[in-house]
Amino acid sequence: MKLIYTDFPYPTEIHDVAKLFWDDTELTDSPDSAQICVREQCGDVCCYYARAFGKEHTERVNIEGLNGLQQIRLRKRFAKLAIYNLLVSVTGKTMPWGSLTGIRPTKLADQLSREGLDWKSTFCDVLGVSANRAQLVEDILRTQGELHRRKEGCADLYVGIPFCVSRCSYCSFTSGEITRLQKYVQPYIEALKKDISATIAFAEKKGIRIVNVYFGGGTPTSLSARQLDDIMNCIRFAPNEYTVEAGRPDTIDSEKLAVLRDHGVNRVSINPQTFNQSVLDVIGRKHTVQDIYDKYELAKSFGFVVNMDLIAGLPSESCEMFYHSIDEAIALDPDNITVHTLALKHGSKLKEQNYTVASNVGLMLDYSRNNLYSAGYMPYYMYRQKYMAENLENVGYCKPNTPCLYNIGIMEEISDIMACGTNAISKKIVSSENRIERSANAKDVITYIERNEEYLDKKFQLFN
Ligand code: SF4
Repeated sequence: MKLIYTDFPYPTEIHDVAKLFWDDTELTDSPDSAQICVREQCGDVCCYYARAFGKEHTERVNIEGLNGLQQIRLRKRFAKLAIYNLLVSVTGKTMPWGSLTGIRPTKLADQLSREGLDWKSTFCDVLGVSANRAQLVEDILRTQGELHRRKEGCADLYVGIPFCVSRCSYCSFTSGEITRLQKYVQPYIEALKKDISATIAFAEKKGIRIVNVYFGGGTPTSLSARQLDDIMNCIRFAPNEYTVEAGRPDTIDSEKLAVLRDHGVNRVSINPQTFNQSVLDVIGRKHTVQDIYDKYELAKSFGFVVNMDLIAGLPSESCEMFYHSIDEAIALDPDNITVHTLALKHGSKLKEQNYTVASNVGLMLDYSRNNLYSAGYMPYYMYRQKYMAENLENVGYCKPNTPCLYNIGIMEEISDIMACGTNAISKKIVSSENRIERSANAKDVITYIERNEEYLDKKFQLFN
């Protein structure tokens, strides 16, 4: 384990960069025991002195005349740069996203442009981002075009269904197996209906227009057709975009799809994750590859825009097997294909089993990108997560005119979100101050059912 000492007031920024190079780094209060040290000296010009393993690196930034928020932003950026450049020289390794550890590189590009900087050269020449990742950001911003714009007075509605038919080995969500939680399903539905109806009524009273609706989870279609109908009856208006993550192919049937269509749903996700049966079995998905083909055709016959998720880096999946999954997904021709990079998160079985991701995930993403571009898909949103294999990214690709507006809104943080259900986070964007206020619902089903009113009140205070 490597220990880091820093007197920088935002130590996790430093720690996050060190973790790009070594998983097993920890912060320490003792400079004497640390192998890596980053110190800040701040006046009108801030200096960052980083040293480790006999090497040193210094970065300087002038913060004179900037407001408090701008100063903090620059100090964080340059402190991270100091340790990143130091660790590049110590290890001889560079990272695809350079010193960036944030979730949203596209948002940062937009922010840099608003600061009057050339974001692309700042990414590549200052922050150490690779040319092909900068190009990816540029392509995404081009696909988003006018969609990358905040609409004041509007919000999107998120509805969380925290049940699944079985647990995938890479999953860290708080969702539970529906058979195990059976006795809570109906009480949860009742609490959720109250939450949705009260949220919509509140939005109407406040003059907030709900534009897009998104049912996520968990797997919303692990509920029965009757239960879905019961919940959707609370939504008595026609959103622009109405999405349901159907997720598991084994949870989809004609009866449920008919309910979705009758309620105005226009997009569903059917997520193979892989087209290799042996890998599906290893990761605990209880469906067959044939189910994916069958349920995809069924969903298309209902006229839905369909997204398919794949994951690069799954256990036992070689590059060639992953390439096969990409080829099969492209051959089916869904409107969207989202390529995730496996992230080993706390709470997942894979993390508990100390699974290590093979070092070829970058090749898998390159293959996806090249072949999806050739097949007419363009990247339209992306995000990064902690613990992601090779510090890569998740990218949503779309055929022309089919991007998921909810995904753009939430990932670029340009839409307010009114969220209902467990583990759902409402967000209000305060554009004038460039900050976001949040209100999180209970993470678990039982607390959510018991303290529903309390969480509703918090949400209303947020949007008051
Ligand atoms: S379907 Fe999604 S939410 Fe459910 S266990 Fe698998 S990864 Fe987790």
